[in-house]
Amino acid sequence: MEAYNFCQSCGMPLNDPLVHGTEKNGDCSLQYCIYRYKDGQFTHPEMTLEEMQYNERRILEQQHLHGDVINAAVNSVQFLNRWLQRNLCRLELNTADYEKD
Ligand SMILES: [Zn+2]
Repeated sequence: MEAYNFCQSCGMPLNDPLVHGTEKNGDCSLQYCIYRYKDGQFTHPEMTLEEMQYNERRILEQQHLHGDVINAAVNSVQFLNRWLQRNLCRLELNTADYEKD
């Protein structure tokens, strides 16, 4: 599996082994951070993209970053693997509906 520089759930930098999430077998996750992914599962599996973006904005605002930087970071969350895959699934479901006709 490809190793990512940023968590593919929340976008935080995976620049330290300590912030990597963990797989079921104890291996470190190459995709997700420890705050979002533990023992092979998302820590908040029910979380929506909108909730993640809201959280992200709050965290970045606490760091007093420039508004443009915050907007760019929040926008980019939807392109992370966790959310991209979900959107692709949605697209496939829609297509399946059309084919039923
Ligand atoms: Zn994360």
